[in-house]
Amino acid sequence: MTARVLYAGAPARWDEYRPALARALEQAGVDCVLGDDLPADEVDYIVYAPNGPVSDFTPFTRLKAVLSLWAGVDTVAGNRTLTVPLARMVDHGLTRGMIEWVTGHTLRHHLGMDRYIHGLGGDWQPAYPPLAEERGVTVLGLGALGRACAETLAGLGFRVTGWSRSAKTIPGLTCLHGEAGLAEALASAEILVLLLPNTPETENTLNATTLAQLPEGAVILNPGRGRLIDDEALLAALDSGHVGHATLDTFRVEPLPRAHRYWSHPRVTVTPHVAAETRLRTSSEVIAENVRRAEAGEPLLHLVDRSAGY
Ligand code: NAP
Repeated sequence: MTARVLYAGAPARWDEYRPALARALEQAGVDCVLGDDLPADEVDYIVYAPNGPVSDFTPFTRLKAVLSLWAGVDTVAGNRTLTVPLARMVDHGLTRGMIEWVTGHTLRHHLGMDRYIHGLGGDWQPAYPPLAEERGVTVLGLGALGRACAETLAGLGFRVTGWSRSAKTIPGLTCLHGEAGLAEALASAEILVLLLPNTPETENTLNATTLAQLPEGAVILNPGRGRLIDDEALLAALDSGHVGHATLDTFRVEPLPRAHRYWSHPRVTVTPHVAAETRLRTSSEVIAENVRRAEAGEPLLHLVDRSAGY
């Protein structure tokens, strides 16, 4: 049977995705028609992104699965018109990009690079940072991205603690889980990395209470989602100096409004949701493999647990 695959990602990227998806589907041995404007009642699979044209899945009467190009599925997981399996993106290129962003910003703060980048003004004052093995880093979220970042940081020598919903054992990491493990995970977080999904349970994971559990002067990196943080509580902790710096890549409202205090706060670095990007070739291969699996009656990769929201 010929599978009908609708591209419903960002329209501006169709010209790039058309050849990449076509090649990956062919290499996966999938017999298919690929398009960006197929009749809804003929579509078997939707290649989906939140910045694409589809938000109501009702017209897609023979749909078999929705395959997200994005790792974060917070805007679609709760969509009531979606009644078929939803797979999210776990992509080699995306993971490598996140490792690089997290490692770069961790090393910036660990080494105190700002002091030299801003300039010593002729004031010769050596100040040695501790070794990584003397620095506690905590990663909230030990999924595809969090675990890869945590393992890389541990490989550099950092004392890494990871926190997740379910219990885990990962060599080289101290693993904590559940509500009971959060305070302990935060207590050792001189640098804290947020790589949780946005779900009803994770909203405001960082609030006035949990921010107070961080060590004095802790640094926060948030490439996860803006809603993980109570912004007013973070701004208060930054104002007081209890939080030494926040490097934020994700925000409740994106683009971050021009008047937002994060833009001008001296202890905040804003990056415009660039931590990690789904990569054309590798993501197309993941999509093609899932179409192949679905057509062969095999289980899909990276299925979203709709009740958990990720
Ligand atoms: P993932 O594989 O689904 O992993 C999510 C992790 O969070 C899992 O370890 C999970 O625990 C944990 N978790 C979920 N709910 C929790 C809770 N209530 N308490 C404690 N831990 C909880 O996701 P991923 O692929 O690593 O991606 C993480 C997030 O990164 C995405 O959802 C997205 O928001 C963000 N992201 C950002 C960018 C960017 O450019 N800034 C790019 C891609 C993704 P279990 O392991 O126990 O299930």
